[in-house]
Amino acid sequence: MAGQRYLYDLADGDASMKPLLGGKGAGVAQMMKLGVPVPDGFTVTTAACVDAMSDGGAWPDGLWEETLAALSRLEERTGRGLGDPERPLLVSVRSGAVVSMPGMMDTILNLGIGDATVEALGREAGDPRFAWDSYRRFLQMYGEVVEGVPAHAYEDALTAMKRGRGVTEDTGLSTDDLRELVEVFKIVSRTHIGADLPEDPKEALRRAIDAVFRSWLNPRAGVYRRANGIADDLGTAVNVMQMVFGNRGDTSATGVCFTRNPATGARELYGEFLLNAQGEDVVAGIRTPRPLAEMEVVLPEAYGQLLEVMGTLEAHYRDMQDIEFTVEDEKLYLLQTRDGKRTAAAALKVARDLVEEGVLSREEALARIEPGQLDQLLHPALDPAHGQQPATRGLAASPGAAVGEVVFDSDTAERRGKAGDAVVLVRWETTPDDIAGTLVAQGVLTAHGGMTSHAAVVARGMGKPCVAGASDIASDAEASTLTIGDLTLTEGDAITLDGSTGEVFAGALALVPPQINEDFAVVVGWADDVRRLGVRANADNGPDAAKAREFGAEGIGLCRTEHMFMEQDRLPAVRRMILASDDAERANALEEILPMQQADFEAILEAMSGLPVTIRLLDPPLHEFLPSLVDQALEVQRLELAGDTHPTDLRHARALLAQIKKLTEQNPMLGTRGVRLALLYPEIPQMQVRAIARAALAVADRGGDPQVEIMVPLVAYAEELRRMRTLIAQTLEAEFAAAGRRLEVPIGTMIELPRAAVVADQIAEHADFFSFGTNDLTQTGVGISRDDAEGAFLSAYLDEGVVPDNPFVSIDVDGVGGLVEIGVQRGRSSKPDLKLGVCGEHGGDPASIAVFERLGLDYVSCSPFRVPIARFAAAQAVLV
Ligand code: ADP
Ligand code: MG
Ligand code: MG
Repeated sequence: MAGQRYLYDLADGDASMKPLLGGKGAGVAQMMKLGVPVPDGFTVTTAACVDAMSDGGAWPDGLWEETLAALSRLEERTGRGLGDPERPLLVSVRSGAVVSMPGMMDTILNLGIGDATVEALGREAGDPRFAWDSYRRFLQMYGEVVEGVPAHAYEDALTAMKRGRGVTEDTGLSTDDLRELVEVFKIVSRTHIGADLPEDPKEALRRAIDAVFRSWLNPRAGVYRRANGIADDLGTAVNVMQMVFGNRGDTSATGVCFTRNPATGARELYGEFLLNAQGEDVVAGIRTPRPLAEMEVVLPEAYGQLLEVMGTLEAHYRDMQDIEFTVEDEKLYLLQTRDGKRTAAAALKVARDLVEEGVLSREEALARIEPGQLDQLLHPALDPAHGQQPATRGLAASPGAAVGEVVFDSDTAERRGKAGDAVVLVRWETTPDDIAGTLVAQGVLTAHGGMTSHAAVVARGMGKPCVAGASDIASDAEASTLTIGDLTLTEGDAITLDGSTGEVFAGALALVPPQINEDFAVVVGWADDVRRLGVRANADNGPDAAKAREFGAEGIGLCRTEHMFMEQDRLPAVRRMILASDDAERANALEEILPMQQADFEAILEAMSGLPVTIRLLDPPLHEFLPSLVDQALEVQRLELAGDTHPTDLRHARALLAQIKKLTEQNPMLGTRGVRLALLYPEIPQMQVRAIARAALAVADRGGDPQVEIMVPLVAYAEELRRMRTLIAQTLEAEFAAAGRRLEVPIGTMIELPRAAVVADQIAEHADFFSFGTNDLTQTGVGISRDDAEGAFLSAYLDEGVVPDNPFVSIDVDGVGGLVEIGVQRGRSSKPDLKLGVCGEHGGDPASIAVFERLGLDYVSCSPFRVPIARFAAAQAVLV
């Protein structure tokens, strides 16, 4: 774009410029404005990255000139020069996306160091060792990030050197060792690249910026974006900042801290630091860092200042901050601040505390909660009465319990996890490349790394239990074993982690259902005050209905009756009903099913006494209750081969096969199901309506308050519903007349076919309520079969960005949302007081809930575990 500005000095930015400067750049600029000490520098905008990427990586016109100009300004302000042999300027080149993606992209430190500058740097600091330490770090990072040299090439050389010198820590190496290491690293780079690194530091800077642009496209960043719903076309900003040195001896340090505890939300000190180290050492989990409290002893002044800065930043951002800092020779610098990733429990506690501290209004606090995350709270925990001794313990890095089979690498975790196995990923330390495995694992265990390591941050964000830095475990990926003392576990053995205590157990321990705590109750109470949409649950048995009520469901929006038909003890009667050769035989079979259905309904109506329960009449095609065509054909063949020893069995098997053939359809989802089935076999809905009426009467007799509603599925024509309504009403009337007592039973329909949405005004004349069945409406509206599509083209569509979201997870706003809108408008046009709900997966999806709020539905209905999420999402939908 002509005339666009691609570059800002830090002094010219602030927090509001996040879309352009990225989170990191905007955060540092804002800190500078607040008078918090930060290194000087400039930011290349996300727009520059986007323009470069859309042009095959070519930099937009003028960007390099702008960069050189900004560099000269920085050189002037600092009184230093990039590559200057007297007063060298060293910079970091840091990625920084708009939405924080911890550790997913690349950063290069110490750029500007080289043979020409290393001596001057050491002289200035009065510490040549520090200068050579910075040099070897630069060579490794530059080689890895810019040239793609594998990390292990350098790590191996470093390990060999440490072993040769008999030291375990980098800090044990002398100046001469490091000088030698630099030469070794140069050879490593040369061998892999086939050329020397550029001598001109400006050229190195250009390549480094370019590499950071490209790191937006690296595979792990892509996986992270998809997992977190971050758009692929945002690009990253690049921050070029003067280096401050945490590796200048024991008066220097680097660290990470949170202004509150990100695991629990408690207002307490939470952080880690390392003396004589550079930032990457802490976050990459290479050395296990020390708790922040110890900094008070070794660096008291910087510590005091840090506490003060934490206060300033929290007050400014009015939220918990995640902070990166470095101390250079006792002087504190802040390098990053961002809203801290936190567990769901911490999110609720922080929200509640910030409101109580008068920092936020309830509405503001609610708006910051990520409803999808609350799912975490609803996961099982270890049974407190387990009585087992832990095999070992590490840091409680991310709470929750995980039980699964041990796997030692991310690829295996990914493969097995996707196949539905419960696995626990065990790693020496995790690298950001382990993200794909972490995503599908039950939990993560590492031998190395602290509470602020990338593994821990990522695990907390995803709600995965994580135990980090369990230092007495030894995992051997080659041999696929894990040893803890004299205990040995091999791949596939069961292990249990408790991320809330840091304990690790051999074997699979028992879990107990989750408990909703007080913070949750208080904050969800605020959500209930704000939201307009009702929240119901989908449940089809008593215990699920009770659970849903406990989670705050205000009724049942969808009670499916087919599961009741599938139960083992009922299937024989159901099959007899389907195979009946005459009406009398069918009536007999139905008579047998009726009391069982009635008992199911009673349990549900009792659990939901006083709240509406919408029962849907039988929906699936009948063949679903029969064996598959192939199985039955094989069974017939088997009996035929066995000769005529079982003539009756063979006759029955053949009859069944014939019936299955008759019922089998090319497109069963578009076939004889729902209201179509009910009109063909009216005895089925009649039996169901009788069971409903009798259940309701029985519950009422016992003092309950049954509020049952009957729903007809798959209606396309108003005439279908008119006929069904007559049949239902007559059946109810007969039951009530016999009982001498009447109950109010509204009758409504699903709107799940495009035709139904379009003629909703006609259908509404026979309906007391509509429930939008958005699963089927998506299948029939978009014309895709869920079962086939998700395994086939849909995943390719998602990967390629043809569609923004899976339309079965988040409603297709324009298309299917448009059909719902038509249904709402036309339905209400002929019946203004028509009650409108939605059932199906979308009822528990926050983005879809926002759409349903906008369309003015009365309630959403979702699975019991999504109910709390829906309550928050419905509140947020009002607040935006
Ligand atoms: P990430 O996004 O992976 O955290 P950063 O850009 O924040 O990457 O850099 C990683 C670490 O490098 C930071 O934690 C910080 O400590 C260190 N670092 C970055 N820039 C500088 C700098 N100018 N001076 C000193 N340390 C730096
Ligand atoms: Mg960082
Ligand atoms: Mg349906």
